[in-house]
Amino acid sequence: MRKQSMKTRQVHAVRAADRAVVPALLLAPTLWDRLPEEGEMVFHPAPPGEKWSTTLDRAAGGAGGRRGVLAVLPPLGARPTKTLVRSLERLARLAEQVGAPERGEEAVAAFQEALEDGLRLDVVRDANVLMLWDKHASGKGLRTCPACGSLVAMNAASRLRAHNGEDGLPCSRSNTALTEEERTRADT
Ligand SMILES: [Zn+2]
Repeated sequence: MRKQSMKTRQVHAVRAADRAVVPALLLAPTLWDRLPEEGEMVFHPAPPGEKWSTTLDRAAGGAGGRRGVLAVLPPLGARPTKTLVRSLERLARLAEQVGAPERGEEAVAAFQEALEDGLRLDVVRDANVLMLWDKHASGKGLRTCPACGSLVAMNAASRLRAHNGEDGLPCSRSNTALTEEERTRADT
């Protein structure tokens, strides 16, 4: 996604490290550096004029710094659910209150401290930011499964695609159609 099209503090569809497309809260389209420091990751605004790149060897002493846009990502392997999208939207309001990222790295550190439920701050490459999440979800025809709450694509026969529930076992609503009532409820 082009930087100009990215929206500050909006939930975007992002390709995660395991290549799954997940909802992620983008804090701003500006570049930040993610650097290992005393056993933890810290985030600094990228120096002016810097370009996108995946490694920051000279700054991080070869220890694996990265540069990209700041985003709050769900834990790896987490299922995209409406609840997850809502928590990211709540975090967008918190980010606004603390001024992350425009008030600088201290505001970002405070915001990072407030993350719960395995949500984590990271930097992502522009190529891995695909589009706004709502656009992705509607374009893919994702619907909320009434049984397990996952956002699931429909198959050609208008049935929920096979998917796993929270326990990792196949969800009982796999390959079933939504009732009229469920369709309406999922849209609200
Ligand atoms: Zn399900």
